[in-house]
Amino acid sequence: MAITVENLTKYYGVQKAVDNVSFTINTGEVVGFLGPNGAGKSTTMRMITCYLEPSSGEIRLDNFSASQQPQEIKKRIGYLPENNPLYLDMPIVDYLRFCAELQGVPKAEISGRIRKMIDVVGLKLERYKKIGELSKGYRQRVGLAQALIHNPEVLILDEPTTGLDPNQIIEIRQLIRELGKDKTVILSSHILPEVEATCDRILIINKGKIVADGTAEQLRSQAQGSELLTIRIEGDTNSEILAALQNLETIEKIKEVPNEEGKFLVTSKKDTSSRKDIFKLCVEKNWYLLEMHGTETSLEDIFRQLTKN
Ligand code: ADP
Ligand code: MG
Repeated sequence: MAITVENLTKYYGVQKAVDNVSFTINTGEVVGFLGPNGAGKSTTMRMITCYLEPSSGEIRLDNFSASQQPQEIKKRIGYLPENNPLYLDMPIVDYLRFCAELQGVPKAEISGRIRKMIDVVGLKLERYKKIGELSKGYRQRVGLAQALIHNPEVLILDEPTTGLDPNQIIEIRQLIRELGKDKTVILSSHILPEVEATCDRILIINKGKIVADGTAEQLRSQAQGSELLTIRIEGDTNSEILAALQNLETIEKIKEVPNEEGKFLVTSKKDTSSRKDIFKLCVEKNWYLLEMHGTETSLEDIFRQLTKN
């Protein structure tokens, strides 16, 4: 199922938490909402799941409208809320039965669904325990089982790996990837490697607005724009080298790398490369070109660029 969001805005009192946001998520996509704390990720998710009413704007799941048919949408969405609220005194199986009943799973199918979900999320050995007796990672699995119990076509997971240890993080990521094969998934995170590891596409959200949208690859090349080279030259003083490089036509900007003799970071003019010019210059001047390689802008840099004040 596809999710369409049009001009979505949410005010809390006078504060605008989500600011005129529009996007479409296609059937089968796994999309990450990436943004710093307070960006508006949870608020957007809560509106998509119909737990919170927008101040203005439209949300549709295929042809169902969130304002007109919230029940139809809730039926088709599995939601893991932030902080995954669970009833700690309840045994896992009882809790999942309770969730299945709430979601309107037909009585005759409930036991089968519970067994299946316990299997899918890997809770077999723990299934007779109370939720309060489980570690954080296993509680998160219960949260996922709860979200999946009615076999929804869409999954909305709010910070699904927060508070987990590195092994659990890897397991939950794998599980999400697996589930993403036949569901439309949105997950949120403030951690970049997280969305990069699990998502086909990333929406970077900052201060209630979408500031970037694309695959990790696309975001990188968008931000990159110009060729960025690291070079190291031996044969003259830094200032002589710098002066000579500055005369090259293809170069936009040069920066000395601090504490590294003869090392520079070179930005070429847009749509040009300065590799050949640098090489020729070194031959002319009888300098040794010890190093020359492309420097990739990391997603981390892009994220910081886009979300800094
Ligand atoms: P994120 O999930 O990206 O961290 P949220 O959607 O939780 O961001 O919050 C966006 C902004 O809205 C924040 O400034 C937050 O303090 C505010 N906010 C969130 N929930 C409420 C609420 N129930 N009442 C008032 N303000 C809220
Ligand atoms: Mg949040």
